[in-house]
Amino acid sequence: MRTDDSRLHIAIQKSGRLAEQSRRLLRDAGLRLQEGKNALTARIENFPADLMYVRDDDIPTFVADGVCELGIVGSNVLREFELAERDSRYEILSPLGFGRCALKLAAAATSDWHGLADLGEARIATSYPHIVRDFLEQRQIAATVVTMNGAVELAPRLGIAPFICDLVSTGATLEANGLRPLETLFESEAVLVRTRGALDEARQETMNGLVRRIGGVLATKESKYIMLNAPEAALPAISALLPGAEAPTILPLHARPGQFAVHAVCQESVFWETLHKLKANGASAILVLPIEKMML
Ligand code: ATP
Ligand code: MG
Repeated sequence: MRTDDSRLHIAIQKSGRLAEQSRRLLRDAGLRLQEGKNALTARIENFPADLMYVRDDDIPTFVADGVCELGIVGSNVLREFELAERDSRYEILSPLGFGRCALKLAAAATSDWHGLADLGEARIATSYPHIVRDFLEQRQIAATVVTMNGAVELAPRLGIAPFICDLVSTGATLEANGLRPLETLFESEAVLVRTRGALDEARQETMNGLVRRIGGVLATKESKYIMLNAPEAALPAISALLPGAEAPTILPLHARPGQFAVHAVCQESVFWETLHKLKANGASAILVLPIEKMML
């Protein structure tokens, strides 16, 4: 499958919950991806990298073995792999801010629940047997884990197990199946992961470049450029209010003595609340602008 060893190989989910956002992230980082993802691999024309479209469960193996130097996968899948295979030949480089969910213990909405002691030796159905067993062992709980590969939320109704551990994001699926969440075992999101294996210099350089661009894309998402005017006496209070801004630029306004323009890159979300506070502290003509690209 690997024909040209000077290129970087990136594993992403072929189809599923992470597929579209993984592709979008790489596109935002400037990689020109071909549409049509029926192929297993795709060559990126404007960057020395190839994509491999795979099942998300296979991404940890590909990255640990070094078949792909980089991958995008849920941290839940990585954790399950690490516990199941006792293999940690990978390194998480960065959380990516999408695919957020949590592995939760749940049971019938009508059931009583006072805490983990209620589990006793009950059966728990899950697709993440190693994470669940690890959780139980650490708390010396003797419950039994039943592995299911799908439709876990049906287990209580089918009489397979009174408890389940499943990934939950909004909770709508649990609710639709008459279940309610009881405990959180693992919080997850999509992450950028690299192989621990050493790369040759050229490919390491390529990887560094791509990781820097992805860092820029992530930073840009939250960041805003703020411009406002304020009297000199208000400047300390206003600077303190700007969310995640390091050193704002402060310039005197022409022909308006004592008045200044403040410009700042805010690396945290700017809420209306913040704008109201800025105004209350003497700011006027407040503008919040999106940032198109940024390299830190
Ligand atoms: P594949 O065919 O690649 O094996 P899959 O069916 O195993 O896909 P998806 O359902 O597409 O997997 O989920 C992929 C990842 O999306 C999960 O491992 C998890 O990290 C994340 N995710 C986010 N929200 C949820 C959710 N509500 N339920 C399940 N996974 C979620
Ligand atoms: Mg899968």
